[in-house]
Amino acid sequence: MKAGFLGLGAIGEPIAARLAPRADLAVWNRTGARADAFAAKYQARFAATPREAATGAAVVLTCLPTSAEVEKLLDGPDGLEAGLASGALVLDCTSGDPATSRRIASRLSRRGVGFADCPVSGGVSGAEAGTLTVMVGAEEDIFVRARPVLEAFGRRIEHMGPVGAGHAMKAVNNALLAVNLEAFGEGFAALVKAGVPARKAVEVLNVSSGRSFVSEALVPERVLTGRWPRTFRLALLEKDVGIALGLLDETGVRGPVLHLVGQLFRQARAALGEDADHVEAIRLIEQEAGAEIRG
Ligand code: NDP
Repeated sequence: MKAGFLGLGAIGEPIAARLAPRADLAVWNRTGARADAFAAKYQARFAATPREAATGAAVVLTCLPTSAEVEKLLDGPDGLEAGLASGALVLDCTSGDPATSRRIASRLSRRGVGFADCPVSGGVSGAEAGTLTVMVGAEEDIFVRARPVLEAFGRRIEHMGPVGAGHAMKAVNNALLAVNLEAFGEGFAALVKAGVPARKAVEVLNVSSGRSFVSEALVPERVLTGRWPRTFRLALLEKDVGIALGLLDETGVRGPVLHLVGQLFRQARAALGEDADHVEAIRLIEQEAGAEIRG
């Protein structure tokens, strides 16, 4: 099967690497050197333009920061739309927004091209291992066609509803991740300042009812060790909380907690910049409180 992949970022690259041995894959990236290096490493084809990556492909996957960039990629003589043939499928792994994806889907359907939003959860390590959770928004027939492709990198692949439903699910998931990062940082800064050993407190939390993915995975790996690797940009998580807030507005849910977390993440993004990792939200709280959660 001929396939195209656009957007070899932190999560896009390991997803594309899972596809490379299973498809005749062409890769495009805004910074061409990354696509060039990928093509050499994984025996894929380098594409100079989105159009070239899509030409002849049965399926094209995209993984960009937001839906706005995906929509923009469609445009122009060298754009994605110009390369897509009728009958092709576009699977968007971006954590995007439902409204833009509905617009993209209706634009592509006029050319006979199917679209599904397929955001993922499980991080870079999950992508490398092929164990991502994939949340799909699509018509049923498109979901059925997409599934075998998504199985290259996903373990749990769920059809959430029509186009946009995958993005909605992902945005709420990530808003809850953001809540847990903030809440953990605040609670643990206070515990450490009160003299409780950080590692013991994390161990006890993780056999108690306040535990979360943050306390079970991210904190032991990154906060207790003080390693702070950069795998998922805080700026992207701030974007996700914003998408979740849009969903709350659309559905008439007031959401004071998520609005406050949205505000805290906007402040953290402004303070830490575009390259900081999402877990650095905890470091910001540590710094403000004068407490290091290590152990
Ligand atoms: P990165 O910031 O690491 O990479 C972004 C990618 O998009 C790069 O390939 C970049 O190209 C490209 N890009 C940026 N702006 C444009 C543009 N204007 N036009 C064309 N290409 C552009 O992001 P991630 O890979 O981490 O994230 C991608 C998506 O996946 C996001 O929606 C994110 O929320 C989501 N996600 C990320 C996870 C993670 O753990 N990192 C986990 C789950 C979801 P260039 O190389 O030129 O900069």
